[in-house]
Amino acid sequence: MYGRQSEDKFKAARERMLRYDLRGRDIADPRVLAAMADVPREEFIPPSHRSQAYSDGPLPIGNDQTISQPYIVALMTQELRVNPECEVLEVGTGSGYQTAILSKLAKKVYTIERFSDLAESAKTVLDKLGISNVEFYLGDGSNGWPAGRLPSSGCFDRIIITAGVPEISEPLVGQLADRGLIVAPVGGRTVQRLVACEKKTDKLISRTICDVRFVRLIGEHGFQQ
Ligand code: SAH
Repeated sequence: MYGRQSEDKFKAARERMLRYDLRGRDIADPRVLAAMADVPREEFIPPSHRSQAYSDGPLPIGNDQTISQPYIVALMTQELRVNPECEVLEVGTGSGYQTAILSKLAKKVYTIERFSDLAESAKTVLDKLGISNVEFYLGDGSNGWPAGRLPSSGCFDRIIITAGVPEISEPLVGQLADRGLIVAPVGGRTVQRLVACEKKTDKLISRTICDVRFVRLIGEHGFQQ
């Protein structure tokens, strides 16, 4: 897609990422590693930064937003414990890279983005990669997925929020299945705690994983700006 030499460079960079930045840390789930090996991250990076596609950090994707660091994508995915029966809701499509990783592990991914140009370009890349088990919605993800378009079970097995939130909003908790899991960065405007929560009889049991820095979720149940 980018010429033989670039393809080889991207492949080598992807292998280096898997070895040092993922397996070299605490990413051990073979399904997560296989998905990270399978999805060409360079496709999700704007041309200005494409050569850094596998660098160990976030990169700009336009609209003042960022694609998350590969390790954080892998860590959140690992904590989400997705299986092939799972219907997964993602809040914050962004580049669509995390969406693509989830699509390899889940039955279906439902993803919400507030910027139409980001949603459009994510959709274009996923189409190009032949990924067809993803449904897009343009709007405020803090309100959850539109009620009329929920999966037949009426809720999601997993929810991932890929922007910082002051708290996990009630509409999102309401759309999570009993025994379902949510992974999200929860906290302040610049620093948050990455948490993994399990829903048990309408309550979230929360566990902190590490400190993170995400862009803010802007919306009714998010930050105002
Ligand atoms: N997973 C993405 C992360 C993108 S950054 C990736 O790796 O590329 C977070 C994204 O959340 C941004 O694209 C931002 O526009 C989006 N976002 C912020 N507030 C939102 C909201 N209320 N609803 C849906 N998306 C939102």
